[in-house]
Amino acid sequence: MIYLDNAATSYPKPQGVSDRMKEYLDLIGAPVNRSVYARAQDAGLVELQLRERLARIFNFPESPTQVLLTAGATAALNQAIFGYLRPGDHCLVSSMEHNAVMRPLQMLAQRGVSFDRIPCGIDGALDLQRIEPLIRPNTRLLVLVHGSNVCGTVQDAAAVGKICARHGIAFVLDAAQTAGHCPVDFKAFGLSALAVPGHKGLLGPSGIGALLVTREFADALTPLLAGGTGSASDSELLPPYLPDRFESGTPNLPGIYGWEKALAFVEETGIDALSAHEKNLTGQFLHGLEGIHGIRVCGKHGTEQRVGVLSVDFETCDNAQAAARLESEFGILTRCGLHCAPSAHKTLGTFPEGTVRFSIGFANSPEEIQQAVHAISQIAEASVIL
Ligand code: PMP
Repeated sequence: MIYLDNAATSYPKPQGVSDRMKEYLDLIGAPVNRSVYARAQDAGLVELQLRERLARIFNFPESPTQVLLTAGATAALNQAIFGYLRPGDHCLVSSMEHNAVMRPLQMLAQRGVSFDRIPCGIDGALDLQRIEPLIRPNTRLLVLVHGSNVCGTVQDAAAVGKICARHGIAFVLDAAQTAGHCPVDFKAFGLSALAVPGHKGLLGPSGIGALLVTREFADALTPLLAGGTGSASDSELLPPYLPDRFESGTPNLPGIYGWEKALAFVEETGIDALSAHEKNLTGQFLHGLEGIHGIRVCGKHGTEQRVGVLSVDFETCDNAQAAARLESEFGILTRCGLHCAPSAHKTLGTFPEGTVRFSIGFANSPEEIQQAVHAISQIAEASVIL
């Protein structure tokens, strides 16, 4: 089996991640922030280490208490978007966004919030010149997908951050496809908030993620959840301090233990090494696809400004059939369709047929990429003859 669906969720996980989750369930089993016995303190410590690791990995310049743990990237983006925008506000997004951004915005459009899409080219890259003409006096937020989950194109977040700073607009980055795959620098990008999932390039389990927020952004943010925090229990109001204000309810503790272990692997290996390995495989893959007839490769055809998410449109056969054959005849696992991002497919010219997506992870090898290229050529070129 060749797993090339890492953009959906990473597989396998680094060694020790599942053991650590089991260890929590079998040997710790205690809550955080509520009880004071030793095992509860262990859980509290692991949770803090997780926040500290995230702060280091993303060069977050403020306190680890502003690393808010969420149920995933979708939950983090919902917190940022619903929590920040008010009726009468205007928001900017790129035309490459995932529905984790577009669906909240479409809901808010029913409640007096307006938005505009900044056009991107056929390669998925944002046209920076198009941003400023779209800014209005009531533009309060810009939300940007850092790496496309359809074609892997990575946006120039630092340049966008400078434009936002010049106009006093909050800047939220969706790093679902870049976190763990290439450098994501909170400070250098001038972010107000960064949303990341635990289960993709950060190699943890699903059901957990984080929203890293500046103090200024947090002060303007309404919590989406309210409930017990284990703190300030004399009051029926949410505490004002972080992370408690945004973390009501008992958290995903097996997820916290597993993710902390996964991030130890990410830190020990280093983002640069992970990125270099995946870039090499991406280069090999793109090069291999160059000579194949009957397919169109979306997005950037070189390895710069991209991560290892490759979308292929089979021109001579049905994409769903191609994906089914990849699994049944070659044991290659991919994802076919529109990948929860209709706006991105419209930008890339692959709507409504969608694409077959191959997404690379840390555990993939050059041999696997070679086999994938071979399988694609067999399917595409056999279909040409038919
Ligand atoms: N944004 C992008 C670009 C994504 O690819 C995804 C996951 N497909 C998400 C947000 C949402 O992440 P999750 O499903 O982990 O909440």
